[in-house]
Amino acid sequence: MVPRRTRGKALAAAPTKRKKRALTSRRCRNCDTPFAPSREWQEFCADDCRKEFHRAGGVSIGRLTPIIEQMVREAIRPHLESIRQEREAIQMQLRKALNV
Ligand SMILES: [Zn+2]
Repeated sequence: MVPRRTRGKALAAAPTKRKKRALTSRRCRNCDTPFAPSREWQEFCADDCRKEFHRAGGVSIGRLTPIIEQMVREAIRPHLESIRQEREAIQMQLRKALNV
């Protein structure tokens, strides 16, 4: 009774919006792969992905990716600086050698 009324309301409120959203591809909450959902509420590209997501305690690769990227960036930052310094030293030597 109540669900039917709610559904009717939602359909009457924004029928085109519902149609559009169902057609739009989205990214899987688990593996971050784009997929075409067959249902509006579908969050995962496959049933296995949904199970994997909940088995891992709701931690998705998509959410972890920015954190991992940040960690890698932090880890290589000091090395990038030393590479930059070395390159500058070589460029200075080259300039000197070419000018003389
Ligand atoms: Zn997936």
